[in-house]
Amino acid sequence: MDCCSTSSSLLTLSQALDKLLSQVEPVGQTEQINLTQAADRITAQAITSPLNVPPFDNSAMDGYAVRRSEVTESAVLPVAGKAFAGQPFHGEWPTGSCVRIMTGAPIPAGTDAVIMQEQTEVQENGVRFTAMPKAGQNIRLAGEDIRQGAEVLPVGSKLGVAQLPLLASLGVDQVTVYRRLKVALFSTGDELQTIGQPLQEGQIYDTNRFAVRLMLEKLDCEVIDLGIIRDDEAAIRQAFAKADAQADVVITSGGVSVGKADYTKQILDEMGKISFWKLAIKPGKPFAFGQLSNALFCGLPGNPVSAALTFYQLVQPLLMKLSGYSQWQKPRQIKVKTITALKKTPGRMDFQRGILSSNAQGELEVKTTGHQGSHVFSSFSQGNCFIVLEQERGSVAAGEWVTVEPFNPLLES
Ligand code: AMP
Ligand code: MG
Repeated sequence: MDCCSTSSSLLTLSQALDKLLSQVEPVGQTEQINLTQAADRITAQAITSPLNVPPFDNSAMDGYAVRRSEVTESAVLPVAGKAFAGQPFHGEWPTGSCVRIMTGAPIPAGTDAVIMQEQTEVQENGVRFTAMPKAGQNIRLAGEDIRQGAEVLPVGSKLGVAQLPLLASLGVDQVTVYRRLKVALFSTGDELQTIGQPLQEGQIYDTNRFAVRLMLEKLDCEVIDLGIIRDDEAAIRQAFAKADAQADVVITSGGVSVGKADYTKQILDEMGKISFWKLAIKPGKPFAFGQLSNALFCGLPGNPVSAALTFYQLVQPLLMKLSGYSQWQKPRQIKVKTITALKKTPGRMDFQRGILSSNAQGELEVKTTGHQGSHVFSSFSQGNCFIVLEQERGSVAAGEWVTVEPFNPLLES
């Protein structure tokens, strides 16, 4: 394949994704860790509940525990005692009396309903009830939420704010998770300068390594940052060897086009096996995927928007599969009208950056972030979605329907 390949020889995004995901398996190694250390980790075993939730029958209301057969419209039942949350009632409960009970308190043996206090009248010698209770009223039964032994999280779940407190509520304090992925990263380019250093003539800042590092951290990977590597065959070869020896995945940026100093692909051909190179998407055409002797390899394009887009669309699902995550889904897409015209040439699928919002009628609509050059990173900071324009589509007029993909948390602020 060369620089002049026609669009028909380029892989579509979905072909590339299928190819990439079908070639990899989760790393598989596991470790047992404390729940407090488990944020963002992936479960390597299904988690079952060691307890019933709730663990005992308890009251859903502040009110009175009764035996229904003793409740009539005229009956006034003396109060035999009190049950509070954390302080069960252990006293005598004579026939013809009731027990004051608070929300969350264990239900005294023999109770068959709780009458809420709003349906009672407190009198000198007891309580009269203004509504007749139904069987089981206001009683939360043991195990009604989760039964002991029931599966609460399948294998491959990500442990986040919705999952960890659930496990804590079950008394689970150790979890078996997959080990974190090790990802080695370097940028290539003689023009690149490290952030924080003054720019010399002809230099630009290395934004890709920073962007990719941030995304890897959000994906809970261990990052091995090998810095900026000059456009020098020997240096790049050495960086590949070092990265390959330490990591599960090696990610590079730049050097995968067909310029004179674009050695990445050539060295990869030598040191590993390229699975595919070049996609029918814009931006992001020169993306390479392959295998080194130990690690997988992803070569991101040099242009920052292309690098971030291909990372998001391809590397993100790859890392999720490798990490053992089992619930990855293709990004959600919706159809909305564009309120601005969008420039496009047929041939590749465009991922333009857009701003999705609701209009005065409460309908969603999208507009462009403006200049769509693959070096214009501000399109990510201004945008909140991709406007996905089909491969063979041309320019789009204002008012036409387009497909939109809201950014997921990897790009959301
Ligand atoms: P390349 O793929 O190496 O030919 O790079 C394509 C374009 O992206 C060139 O304009 C590079 O200067 C730019 N570029 C490459 N790497 C980076 C990077 N790490 N950060 C910002 N721009 C980059
Ligand atoms: Mg370069």
